[in-house]
Amino acid sequence: MKTIGLLGGMTWHSTLEYYRLFNELVYQKLGGQNSAKILLYSFNFSDLRTWQTSDTALLAEHLAKEARKLEKAGADIILIGANTMHEYYPQVQNLLTIPVLHIADAVGLEIVKSKLKRVLLLGTKYTMQGDFYKNKLAEYDIETIVPDENQQKIIHEIIYTELTHGIINDNSRNSYLHIINSIRQNDKIEGIILGCTEIPLLIKQEHTNLKVFNTTLIHAKAAVEFTLST
Ligand code: GLU
Repeated sequence: MKTIGLLGGMTWHSTLEYYRLFNELVYQKLGGQNSAKILLYSFNFSDLRTWQTSDTALLAEHLAKEARKLEKAGADIILIGANTMHEYYPQVQNLLTIPVLHIADAVGLEIVKSKLKRVLLLGTKYTMQGDFYKNKLAEYDIETIVPDENQQKIIHEIIYTELTHGIINDNSRNSYLHIINSIRQNDKIEGIILGCTEIPLLIKQEHTNLKVFNTTLIHAKAAVEFTLST
C-alpha cells in the first residue's frame, strides 16, 4: 500500500473527514485489520486566511514547502485538502516529483461516470469566481454553472463564519437549499458539486433529489484507489 500525504487543516473539520474516509475506504477494500498509511501536515487555518487575504504568493510558497516535506517524509501522493487551495495547485506540483491529486480531476471523472454535463458549483467565492476549477472541469466537457453574485455572497459567508468553525446550522442549510432550488427553476442543472470540503457537513444527498457530488469523499476515494493500485 502506498502512503497518502495530506495537506490538512483547511479546515480541520474537513481534515477529520478525510482521515476517517481514508481509513474506512481502505478497510472496505482490504478488510482485516487494514487501515490507511497517512502523513498529515495540518496548517493553522488562521495563517492560511492571513496569507490568502494579504499575500497569495506566500500562501502558495507555504503550501508547496509543506507538501515537499511530506514527499521527503515518504508520501507517494499529495492531496491538498480543500477546493479553494487548488488555485495554487501548479506551484505545489512544480516543487514535487510525486503527483498531486487535483480535486477537480477526481470530481470531473466522477461526473463523467454519472453521464452528467451541466452542474452547479457551490464553494467559496475564490472557487466560484476563479477559472482554476471551472477550466479543469471543462477538460471533462462539463459545463459549470455558478450562483449569482448575491447568492455567492450568502454561500461564501456561511462557509467562513460557520462551516469553517464547525458550526452546522439548520437555517443555513435552508438558505443553501433555497438557492439551489431557485437556480434549478431557471436553469437545467443536472447535479450539484459541493465544492468546498466543509459543505458536505451541511448538505447531504438526502436533502435534494439532484445528484450531489461530495468533493471530500470523491477526493479521498481517488487517493485510496491510487494507494491500493500496483
Ligand atoms: N475547505 C474549503 C474548500 O474546500 C474552504 C476553506 C479554504 O480553503 O479557504 O474550499
